[in-house]
Amino acid sequence: MATGFVYSPRFLDHDTGRDHPERPDRLRAIVDRLKTHHIWDDLTHIPFGPAPLEWVERLHDRTYIERVKQACEAGERFIDTADSAISPASYEVALLAAGGAIAAADAVASGRVHNAFCASRPPGHHAERDRSMGFCLFNNVAIAAEYLIRHHGLSRITIVDFDVHHGNGTQHLFENRCDVLYVSLHEHPMHQYPGTGFTHERGVAGGEACTLNIPLDPGSGDGEYRRAVLDLVTPAIEKHRPDALLLSAGFDAVDGDPLGHMRVSPHGFQWMTRHLKRLAESLCGGRVVSILEGGYDLRLLAECVSLHLTALMQDEGHDEIMAMKAGV
Ligand SMILES: [Zn+2]
Repeated sequence: MATGFVYSPRFLDHDTGRDHPERPDRLRAIVDRLKTHHIWDDLTHIPFGPAPLEWVERLHDRTYIERVKQACEAGERFIDTADSAISPASYEVALLAAGGAIAAADAVASGRVHNAFCASRPPGHHAERDRSMGFCLFNNVAIAAEYLIRHHGLSRITIVDFDVHHGNGTQHLFENRCDVLYVSLHEHPMHQYPGTGFTHERGVAGGEACTLNIPLDPGSGDGEYRRAVLDLVTPAIEKHRPDALLLSAGFDAVDGDPLGHMRVSPHGFQWMTRHLKRLAESLCGGRVVSILEGGYDLRLLAECVSLHLTALMQDEGHDEIMAMKAGV
């Protein structure tokens, strides 16, 4: 069954300036790789437009949204932090990235596609309700989660964030509720931006125990990630019984990424994708919406994304799913 794909050349118009790691070439490298490896034509390309403001406003303060708009219109070079570079087109492009996440959520929820991946930018998981952080303007994965709950009536969403950086924004947006379980695997906050994501951050008030942070030591690779996914992530997802699984798919934990200090191989990401996909098959009809976050070495990013996509596209039989559930 089909894997949906969200991409627009408009995503290249978010100009972060020379030497910024989060640059348009990231998506060019992904698209080139998908075309040369003949993956592109096998994807179901999902049409989409900018996110309606009402959905962005559910996660972000109206004053912040307006501030992003005005800063872009005024030709400011960054917003809130020097990390978050912007250009005149960035506000529109950020709305388009959020709109892509919504369209992917629609396509998966309606059954038009089996699962979907958004090759979009700017990324989103650092974006807080009222401010930009870490290259992120609007929190795409959070907007998709809220949309699936409010518009499609889904009861529970699990977000798994395997970007090397902790998704502070996503955690904070959902930390006081349990309909969204946020699970993050990331480099330990003692060593890595943004300095949040300690194990003791487990949610607040009504969201107690609905945040699961799994900080990993620098240098962790396929073995450490595999153990964390099998021993911690999998039981948490099984307990939460989500109606859809969302992925904050950052590939900056790959061995060789300039911003991360981890040693995951591209095939390690493929294993993780396949495992999470099978888990979704057994729990929620295979509904997976994966949204690009980080990944800053162009060649490695493109390789990781193509392996991630081929795992999502793989048609697997019932027997294999049952074997996975049996722990074979
Ligand atoms: Zn990252």
